[in-house]
Amino acid sequence: MDLFKKPEALFALKAVREACVIAERVAAEMAHDAQDKPDNSPVTVADFAVQALISERLEKAFPQDCLVGEESADELRAPARTAMLNQITAFAGRALAGLHNPETLRLIDRGKGKPCKRFWTLDPIDGTKGFLRGEQYAVALALLENGRPVFSVLGCPRLGADGSFQKKGPGIIAAAFAGGGAWLSPLDQEKFTRLHVSARSQVADLHVLRSVEASHANADHLAPVFAKHGIAASPMLMDSQAKYAVVAMGVSDLFFYLVSRRNPAQRMKIWDVAPGALVVEEAGGKITDMQGGTLDYTCGDTLEKNPGLVITNGLYHDKALEILREAEKARA
Ligand code: AMP
Ligand code: MG
Repeated sequence: MDLFKKPEALFALKAVREACVIAERVAAEMAHDAQDKPDNSPVTVADFAVQALISERLEKAFPQDCLVGEESADELRAPARTAMLNQITAFAGRALAGLHNPETLRLIDRGKGKPCKRFWTLDPIDGTKGFLRGEQYAVALALLENGRPVFSVLGCPRLGADGSFQKKGPGIIAAAFAGGGAWLSPLDQEKFTRLHVSARSQVADLHVLRSVEASHANADHLAPVFAKHGIAASPMLMDSQAKYAVVAMGVSDLFFYLVSRRNPAQRMKIWDVAPGALVVEEAGGKITDMQGGTLDYTCGDTLEKNPGLVITNGLYHDKALEILREAEKARA
């Protein structure tokens, strides 16, 4: 069976595309509010509107499936948030005719599901700060079965198929099927081509990525070790799970999220990782925690057992772990 004809793929690809349209409309129409009113910022409206929309589409397509989303409607119930709730309903309502506030709240809270045998996880706007800055963000959705991602979709409205920044879109959509490859299409079409990570294995050739927020990567102590190994090029900075798509495209070769010394218990959320991880793995790349451990998606909504993350084209993975060990030793 054509993987793209599976009901899960039909639902998720359409819902993520619709969500990207809504998110871009929030960005375009509420842009100046971001500076002035942090409490009523477009990112918040976009986060909630996208979660409401995808939740509704999931409920229609797979009423039994539970959704583990990043957002909850709790704070939107406060009277002080009514204006924001109205805006969320207005934006989501462009795709959901007749939407009203109580229904918006119900749909957002359908995302409070608990991880179980089969569930979807959603980061409605991954890369909040990138979204606000007019840079990269991703609508990230994955289906997990028996503790493993089996299908995922990343919608990146500001990313080109060559990893470049696209101010005016159309952006890309990446999809991955466990055992069925990773695929890329322009966001506004259904023209998927297979994704493959790079074949670069020589340090001198490596293209390194990093979160725009330096504190997310916590990678400062790597610089001298990188330099020692000849990985001199300064990293390309990018927000969100768009980074995973860029590795899957073969444009970049590695990035890290390291645990900070000040907060060694820090862990990633599954919606921040599962969608992108499957895209990288199915393109031939590799992802482990910073100690080389396999990702364990069976600890609730957090990757409790996995400190930090190392994402590579596969060829460079063992060397990347070795460099990390060396850096850890150096700073100990
Ligand atoms: P970034 O890739 O830096 O744009 O971050 C994307 C998402 O990952 C955001 O939701 C962050 O809150 C989350 N995140 C980034 N770095 C870390 C980290 N070191 N530990 C836990 N979550 C993180
Ligand atoms: Mg996120």
